[in-house]
Amino acid sequence: MTTPAPSKRGLSRRTLMTGAGTAALGVLGGVTGARAFGAAPRTGAAGSGTPGAATPAGTSPAPTGFASFAWLGTSGWRVRTPTTTVLVDPYVTRFDTGLAAGAFTPTTRLRVDTAALDDALGAPRSADGVVDAILVTHTHWDHFADVPHLARTRGATVFSTLTGYHLALAMGVPQKQLAVVRGGEEMHLGDLVLRVVPSLHSRTATGALLFPGVRTQVPARPRTVADLPEGDTLSFLLRSPQGRSVLLLGGSDYDDQALRGLRVDTVALPVPSTEVTADYAGRLLTALDDPAQVVLVHWDDFESPLTNPPRADDATRARVTALTEQIERLSPRTRVVVPEYGTPLDLL
Ligand SMILES: [Zn+2]
Ligand SMILES: [Zn+2]
Repeated sequence: MTTPAPSKRGLSRRTLMTGAGTAALGVLGGVTGARAFGAAPRTGAAGSGTPGAATPAGTSPAPTGFASFAWLGTSGWRVRTPTTTVLVDPYVTRFDTGLAAGAFTPTTRLRVDTAALDDALGAPRSADGVVDAILVTHTHWDHFADVPHLARTRGATVFSTLTGYHLALAMGVPQKQLAVVRGGEEMHLGDLVLRVVPSLHSRTATGALLFPGVRTQVPARPRTVADLPEGDTLSFLLRSPQGRSVLLLGGSDYDDQALRGLRVDTVALPVPSTEVTADYAGRLLTALDDPAQVVLVHWDDFESPLTNPPRADDATRARVTALTEQIERLSPRTRVVVPEYGTPLDLL
């Protein structure tokens, strides 16, 4: 294990290599935990640099308050505007695959915790539980496993790759609720504008991709985590009527050429668990012309319940701190936020 060394933009940057199972899979594991996931807004729980730290006074860019973003763990979000509720990669069930123990089991059965979903997202047919759209960055289980159930019970439209389309059909989502996108689309989504941006998925320490593959026709109903391939990766830009914008990344990588020229105020950035991706922070900041705010996501142990404070092991917390320091060094104007679960963030 190494500690990231300070570096200047253009030089190679290092993030921590973790040992054994979780790093080899390119995903994260962890420890600690306590408070219940709160549906009620709690302010001041987002922090700069340290997971769960208090927000420094006066450092927040002036939000318009048009939309509230609540982090659902991993790369998941609930975005609520005056008229529209959008979920991004909602994964609340968070079942155990052995990841945190370094004993990942690809044959782990998929399951859905309906009580946890209702608790975090509101019950179906309740005022709190309305969902208009679900955006899926890619179809690994920690992004997609809850999506078919949510779509079926909430009636939401699912925006995903062609692979997501076929998997969702295999998992019982009506075809009329499925919208295939590939990147480049710009469309109205209630009172938001959604732009789909082509993206990439992180690599393991050897450069391999976890569960690669696409589905070009409806497969047998997926039963295990290995039955949900990556299926190509997308990212999503949400824009408010006032012109503010948030880019939501899900796969711990990006195509910086696809990001050039996008005007982005805030980017939700997954924390990678290997250093395979070259210049992860620097190329992103350059492509987006130093956004005002970066929110770090997908660093929490997503196999423990969705309760604050989010769990993460020491190595993962060190990676969060190192990435925060890199971003702040490379782009002093950029504020780095490390959220807690459910905390409403005014990002649009
Ligand atoms: Zn993934
Ligand atoms: Zn993931």
